[in-house]
Amino acid sequence: MLSVEQAGQIDPWLGQSVECACGKTHSVSIRKVVIERGALDALPSYAQERGYSELLLVVDKNTLDAAGRELLGLCKAAHLNVSLCVLGADERGELAADERVIVQLMLNVTPAVQAIVAVGSGTIHDVVRFVSHKMDRAFFSVPTAPSVDGFASVGAPLIIGGFKQTIAACAPEAIFADLALLAKSPKALIAAGFGDMLGKYTSLADWQLGRVLFGEPHCELADEMTRQGLAMCVDYVDEIAEGSELGMRKLMEGLTLSGISMLLVGHSRPASGGEHHLSHYWEMRFIQQRRRALLHGAKVGVAAVQMAKLYEAAAALSKEAVAAAIAERQARGDVLTPERMREQIQAGYGSIADQVLAENGLAALDATESAEQQELPQWIIERWDEVRAVCGNVPPSGQLADALRRVGGPTTVDELGVEPELLEDSLKYAKYVRNRYTIIRLHQWL
Ligand SMILES: [Zn+2]
Ligand SMILES: [Zn+2]
Repeated sequence: MLSVEQAGQIDPWLGQSVECACGKTHSVSIRKVVIERGALDALPSYAQERGYSELLLVVDKNTLDAAGRELLGLCKAAHLNVSLCVLGADERGELAADERVIVQLMLNVTPAVQAIVAVGSGTIHDVVRFVSHKMDRAFFSVPTAPSVDGFASVGAPLIIGGFKQTIAACAPEAIFADLALLAKSPKALIAAGFGDMLGKYTSLADWQLGRVLFGEPHCELADEMTRQGLAMCVDYVDEIAEGSELGMRKLMEGLTLSGISMLLVGHSRPASGGEHHLSHYWEMRFIQQRRRALLHGAKVGVAAVQMAKLYEAAAALSKEAVAAAIAERQARGDVLTPERMREQIQAGYGSIADQVLAENGLAALDATESAEQQELPQWIIERWDEVRAVCGNVPPSGQLADALRRVGGPTTVDELGVEPELLEDSLKYAKYVRNRYTIIRLHQWL
């Protein structure tokens, strides 16, 4: 019988369906995870076991050199029919998970292809995840760098028409993470993976805020699994910084656990909160300004430090101080009515405002405040002791910055390459990236 005590392990959950204490039945569709030196060797025999003889390997020019050629050779040696799709960069030399790349891959999926293998980091996985789901092919994952927690997850964050949205697709059937390969990956990608994990401190707290304030559904198992994955990475920060195989194992296991926790609940709530909204907001502005993209995990790490600052400020407030702050805002008329939210979204999102209005249930011009929104200020005051406890559980921002520094990742927007004006805008507008309760939304009352 599976229980929350096994939340820090991967294998017991693979291919399982669990009747959870949260009232839901969770299924993990991933059947196999190999995290070891030489994991690539295990892929051809697994494909044969499953009866897949036609494989398509998806790489870019970097991952072709890092692992693609080797895997191609291994598959051929095992007498598999294997073809290669090399995704090309755009005119800025970038590979983004967008319409252009999706179509490029779809054109390469012949009727004979049974399984598509993502050989790369986050972007290649997101594109393969989406296409294999839409075209009903098996999906294998070969991470070439421990850079994101998205390998194991089900959602594909794609940029469609310049708007970053997460589209439900499928998890890989099997993951083959070769530790020797991960240890050779660029330090910046390793630091980014660590940053993506550090963001779980604030995403988990955001999920708790939703539970405390709105009674949002919560799952103790998914929460604990993410927490254990995070703890693993924090406990082995020095090994991760060194790029040792032990460090890579811990980081990859942590990222995988975070991915599985999203699979359990069927959404990204445990792993993605205000820190991801800030990161997505920066990313969309960069796209609008036609600037080179920053690494996802690098942005998330820096954004988590920012979110931890908001948590620190909230944790310092007494119930009386919160009641006074809210009363003062209401007296000034400084509250977000649907009309003002609509104005902010127009100001903050420009050409993609319509998609953001829809995400926030504000597409109809006569959208009114829900009863929930009207009651919220009162709930914040009444439930402040519990809210404050959630806030107090987030480590101080300085501690998060220190951990990022140890793995060599950026810790401030300045080091990351995001201007102070953009940070200011994002603290105002990023809450609309997703209709999800976070510390950014709470902070607007304090
Ligand atoms: Zn992430
Ligand atoms: Zn559950």
